[in-house]
Amino acid sequence: MNLLAVADPECRQPATRFPHTDNQEERTMNRGTCPVCMGPSDPPCLACQMKPQDYLPIKDVWLAVRPAITSEAQPVAVDWAIVDLSGDTIARWDWTEHRYLPTADPIPESASQRYAWLEVTTHCPHRCRHCFLGERLGHGHAPAQAVHNALDQLLEWNVAEIVISGGEPTMHPDFVAILRHSWETASHVRVLTNGWTQRAEVVQAFAQPGISVEIPLLGLETDHDWMTRTTGSYRRIHKTLHLYREAGVDLTLTTTVTQQTVKALPALKALAEQLRIPFVATPLSPQGLAQDNWTELYGESGQGPHAL
Ligand code: SF4
Repeated sequence: MNLLAVADPECRQPATRFPHTDNQEERTMNRGTCPVCMGPSDPPCLACQMKPQDYLPIKDVWLAVRPAITSEAQPVAVDWAIVDLSGDTIARWDWTEHRYLPTADPIPESASQRYAWLEVTTHCPHRCRHCFLGERLGHGHAPAQAVHNALDQLLEWNVAEIVISGGEPTMHPDFVAILRHSWETASHVRVLTNGWTQRAEVVQAFAQPGISVEIPLLGLETDHDWMTRTTGSYRRIHKTLHLYREAGVDLTLTTTVTQQTVKALPALKALAEQLRIPFVATPLSPQGLAQDNWTELYGESGQGPHAL
């Protein structure tokens, strides 16, 4: 099949079109399923929120990883860990044994200081130049049942917080159920999202006590879109920030400090103040694609943005 996801939630046209087929049977067969992941969600599914120009470069990846979405046996390149607040990982999910295995001996007693790091997908509509996932980007969703299994096991580890990450976590077909399950498992849930999702179901799920959401802007319009390699992403995220704020989401604006973002720091801080939300700038971490693009992002000297 040669199917493309071209739906845009801002567009009032039908959510799904099949521009490369006139085959009525194929269109009928796929009615009610996501044309990318073939999952059970009704269009527009989460993946279909991507705009065609963003989707096309990774079409083949999506089609290639489709089995990972439905097969519980097939692990994808996600990382699940239990970390204490000093930054030490004390347990990591083992995909062979399907449980968390301790990485620290002895395991620290301070259970209230622990948080769980849960990547639920490696998919994302962006291709950021500093993406920590590196080559793991775009290789599939974590199987939903495995995520719920891992969440059940977190009860034994008594974590104070669950951090849901990705990729872009809201693209997981079972995202809302995962969020709800996380909320039942820990007293606080923090979602690291790029703000791409504007679906009412997700916005409502975010606007619950005990859930906080962090969204990055990586500069003003030109620089942000350059960093994400996604035209129009700044405008979309800017709109999302207002949407989430109006919905009462516990929201923080974040940025990663690079040569490109440093000049926008005052404007980003002003935007956060206008929205009356916190603003957090964190240093660039030398991992994933940031390592490959380090000089471009951090300067020839390696000493960081000069304006700092
Ligand atoms: S938004 Fe996050 S997960 Fe997506 S490409 Fe950028 S850094 Fe990677």
